[in-house]
Amino acid sequence: MNSFYIWTIGCQMNKADSERLETALEQAGLHAAARPAEADVVVLNSCVVRQSAEDKVVGALGMMKAVKGRRPGQALALMGCMVPPNAKGLKERFPHVDVFMQPQRFAPLLDLLGERFGVDVEGCLSSLAPNRPAVSSYVPVIHGCDLMCSFCIIPFRRGRQVSRPMEEITREVGLMAERGMKEVTLLGQTVDAYGHDLPEPRDLADLLEATSRVEGLKRLRFLTSHPIFMSDRIIRAVGEIDKVCEHVNLPVQSGDDAVLANMRRRYDERDYRRLIDRIRAAAPGVSISTDIIVGFPGETDEQFESTLNLVKDTGFDKAHLAAYSPRPGTYAYRRLPDDVPKEKKVERLKTLEETQKAIQERRNRRFLGETVEVLVDERKKGKWQGRTRGDRLVFFEDAADLLGELVDVRIESTGPWSLQGTPAAAIGVRKREATA
Ligand code: SF4
Repeated sequence: MNSFYIWTIGCQMNKADSERLETALEQAGLHAAARPAEADVVVLNSCVVRQSAEDKVVGALGMMKAVKGRRPGQALALMGCMVPPNAKGLKERFPHVDVFMQPQRFAPLLDLLGERFGVDVEGCLSSLAPNRPAVSSYVPVIHGCDLMCSFCIIPFRRGRQVSRPMEEITREVGLMAERGMKEVTLLGQTVDAYGHDLPEPRDLADLLEATSRVEGLKRLRFLTSHPIFMSDRIIRAVGEIDKVCEHVNLPVQSGDDAVLANMRRRYDERDYRRLIDRIRAAAPGVSISTDIIVGFPGETDEQFESTLNLVKDTGFDKAHLAAYSPRPGTYAYRRLPDDVPKEKKVERLKTLEETQKAIQERRNRRFLGETVEVLVDERKKGKWQGRTRGDRLVFFEDAADLLGELVDVRIESTGPWSLQGTPAAAIGVRKREATA
């Protein structure tokens, strides 16, 4: 039997794509190999969102050249955001790669398997629900993005926004729940734009409602939202549908209007603040995370201060912070000089990180002595690990097998990144009602 190895880097979308390709390859009769050197087929699922990610992919491609040299006949595929619609340049640069596939376009690899190994690939793309989903898994519901933020390469690589039919998604979530998944995160680059492009337009709230009816599923999340698509119906769904977790990831990117305009984000700082207020009013206790880029072209000290103030005022539960790095192919790369000195970017990033760390420390401390509901998704170094509905990481010890269980945990210590506690059943306390 032929074997495969998939190497993945990047966002949850890539992780979900790799899981689906794994299902397709298993359906074609291949089995997973432990190492690239032992596989007949190796797939590198790439990311180019930052230069460091792209450098790692180039490093892996170099390593695979040596591996392939020792294993003639091995098939090597490059998949993901590094592959543009026309891969001619990549073919010249990496002639040892047999097949190039854009995100979710698995067919060229399956065709190659048919030709080279005589594998019967008929029907293996019909249902790609992972065979062994994790307790907490991801399901892509909308591919691509129409927005063209000036710093972002994703629309060029993942294409225009295309929503999957609602029935197909609920069927897939149902299958995965039957196979052991307890929590699903509905994924998209702009997940809150879900359904707008369908022949019969839908809203993400419709999908949340439909998915929440899946038996066996305990929790529902969605990622990543864009502020301009966050409808009142979605906000109400977060507050009202039991299975929908009270957590919203809402990238702001900057707290300054001029920078936001240069980023082509289509909202201003006041719109964003109002949106946060609306979400908090509809779903009290909701946790809100964000993404921010510092040192964007032209960003002055005052403009950075505006971002810092927004962060302090909003009190995000989590923030993914990054210093701007130009990505070839984007509008910002072509038109906006990368004029903030590196030291300045590092200094701003450090200031923001320290501020956010103090905020997280404070926000997490509120749970000291409280009891929170944790979905246990992993065991690490002798401890169970899981997340609260508000996406806080919790560690606790227990001898029982609790993987996939919802456990009430009394919090005994907190830090900026996680909470630690003891199962409430072990100490006889009742669960709190507020969101964690
Ligand atoms: S919304 Fe902007 S940042 Fe997000 S994927 Fe689309 S273009 Fe990129």
